[in-house]
Amino acid sequence: MAKPIVGHLDAFFFEVCSEIRAGLQAAYGTANPFTLAISATGSGGMETAVANFVEPGSKFVVFANGFFCDRLTEMGKRHGATVVRCEKPWGETFTDEEAREVILREKPNTIAFVHAETSAGALNSGYAICAAAREVGALVIADCVTSLGAMPINIDEMGVDVAYSCSQKGMSCPPGLSPMTVSPRALEWLKTRQSPKDTWYFDLSLLADYFEGARRYHHTAPITSFYALYEALQSIEEEGLQNRFDRHHRNHLAFVAGVEAMGLTMHVAEGHRLWTLNTPRVPEGIDDLKVRQRLMAQHGIEIAGGFGPLAGKVFRIGLMGVLSTEADVLFLLEAFQAALEAEGFVSKGSGVEAARAVYAEAAVAA
Ligand SMILES: *Cc1c(COP(=O)(O)O)cnc(C)c1O
Repeated sequence: MAKPIVGHLDAFFFEVCSEIRAGLQAAYGTANPFTLAISATGSGGMETAVANFVEPGSKFVVFANGFFCDRLTEMGKRHGATVVRCEKPWGETFTDEEAREVILREKPNTIAFVHAETSAGALNSGYAICAAAREVGALVIADCVTSLGAMPINIDEMGVDVAYSCSQKGMSCPPGLSPMTVSPRALEWLKTRQSPKDTWYFDLSLLADYFEGARRYHHTAPITSFYALYEALQSIEEEGLQNRFDRHHRNHLAFVAGVEAMGLTMHVAEGHRLWTLNTPRVPEGIDDLKVRQRLMAQHGIEIAGGFGPLAGKVFRIGLMGVLSTEADVLFLLEAFQAALEAEGFVSKGSGVEAARAVYAEAAVAA
């Protein structure tokens, strides 16, 4: 990021963009030519998706089981859509049958789901949603903010039309950019969109003119942030995408084994958990804020608490990007267990020992 800043129409900048496109296509699991970074944070990517693909007066189904689904709902309303929410408690996920039933019944124009719901720690699969969406001719938007660069997404296989993410979570990059990918089908739809778009900055047709086509000035891209994203994608390529997914998976499993050995339970059912964001439940009688304050004061470890309906009920513990390592998991478990015990929690067993056993098994398997 300390490299000299070239102009926003410099040939070198477009070279960087084209490398970024290739890296993002791999991370997203897509061949979509229209894959780029929006000059905004993850929420800007969300607004880009909604503003372009949700028309005023159209029907927008949101699969709602966490905070970020609420934000999608709010954006849908502000852009004039009739929003139909399919609700589940935070941390639960939709079955294939539930997803299909809602979509066939509502016949929406656009559908959104959050692939990795950071507020609850749950992974929402998009396969059934996308298959049913095809049957009714709806476009599908996927929020991949906490999965990109850390968990497999398989945009093309799943059949997602529009996906966005951020730079600062699984990508381990400074915040400021929103990696986005749009299917050829969605771009075709955009050309036939009836109503004028109610956004200028996030108008994908104008952005296409800047990044993909005529290279016409639209806004001054934050060049330095693009360098950072380029570098983050290089790191992913050096590690190998599959190795990176495996690393996140292994560290998640070791962490879960650790907290379960201590006597905690996970909020999300096995098989639906994010590898990047773990939500063990706060044990009965323990004040999560005090535990978090101890971790911060004594070890400089920052973990988050639950909020909304999960306030005081879960811890939210990020293990993503460069922070998903064996050393970090062991260090965290030891400090976490000590902090819980200092607040009166009686552990069942050693978190560190259980995690070590997972690593030893993984080493044998490898
Ligand atoms: C963080 C997050 C966002 C918002 O991203 P910002 O970069 O904070 O704007 C959107 N969706 C999900 C699932 C997130 O975790």
